[in-house]
Amino acid sequence: MADKDIFDVIVIGSGPAGYTAALYTARANLRVLIIAGVAPGGQLMLTGHVENFPGFPDGILGPELMERMREQALKFGAKIVYDDAIDVDFSKTPYKVLTSGEEYLGYSVIIATGAAARWLGLESEKRLIGRGVSGCATCDAPLFKGADNIVIIGGGDSAMEYALFTANLAKKVTVIHRRDKLRASKIMQERALSNPKITFIWNSVVTDIIGENKVEGVKVKNLLTGEEKTIQCNAVFVAIGHKPATDIFRDKIDMDNEGYIITREIVKTSVPGVFAAGDVHDKKYRQAITAAGFGCMAALEAIRYVEEKVNSSKRTL
Ligand code: NAP
Repeated sequence: MADKDIFDVIVIGSGPAGYTAALYTARANLRVLIIAGVAPGGQLMLTGHVENFPGFPDGILGPELMERMREQALKFGAKIVYDDAIDVDFSKTPYKVLTSGEEYLGYSVIIATGAAARWLGLESEKRLIGRGVSGCATCDAPLFKGADNIVIIGGGDSAMEYALFTANLAKKVTVIHRRDKLRASKIMQERALSNPKITFIWNSVVTDIIGENKVEGVKVKNLLTGEEKTIQCNAVFVAIGHKPATDIFRDKIDMDNEGYIITREIVKTSVPGVFAAGDVHDKKYRQAITAAGFGCMAALEAIRYVEEKVNSSKRTL
């Protein structure tokens, strides 16, 4: 295998973390390949108006922001393939990344495959995503400032965080949880339960979301009594957990029991030269801007790694 066939950096993933990592490494004059996936762009492709990404005072549509990031990375020479990575071999360098049709080699790999919000799986939910249904209240709740009622689904820390955040914006917030006990940490529970704007509906699930082009309400079923009722609301935030896209890295790098990549020094994984950036290791912040920041950090580490471990050894040959 000729050296020219080996990339300096392979970036797996094409959300804000992946494109930022590609931009930085390509601009440092490294040979960079982005394996963008068959559905590139990550979670922002499912987002409507993004108002909290700095530099866009009037906001920007999620897909447009991703298109701009892609363009900026490609402008500096990063190559891109629109296929999913289906396997990796980190047992020796150069590392291998396989897609359905090709095998790529890289001295360094940046994993930026992100995480996907879990959804209820309702047809109406799918139709109304970006039109009042969202998996991120921090991103989208400000669009519903002054709303009469906002529904939050879930009983974990995310649901409580979303409820507290939206309570500052809407007249009323209704949390719908499938059990009678919250999973959230004690402090988050206490804050949410004592907030007069937040109402809880226990032992209940949402069976349908009402509205053609915008959210108008939800149908709720009590799991103990079977009773069904309709609640009017302007938006629904689904906070029933996330799943990191790490299946292909199982047993190849260290992960926690939820499948998030374990990092040290922020972006270093258990394999030298393999870095993780964004929601694939960060379950706390999960913002486009923090993912981009992690992408930048992973890129700076990859640039240093390629210079120290790869280029310097070539010079001494
Ligand atoms: P989570 O802790 O897994 O909670 C998910 C919630 O959704 C649970 O209450 C669960 O109900 C419910 N749920 C799951 N599937 C459901 C379904 N199909 N229908 C209805 N409800 C369903 O997820 P998370 O809240 O996103 O938190 C993930 C991790 O990030 C946690 O470790 C959390 O502590 C952390 N986090 C921390 C903060 C913070 O510190 N500020 C903020 C956000 C997240 P059950 O309880 O019945 O299982």
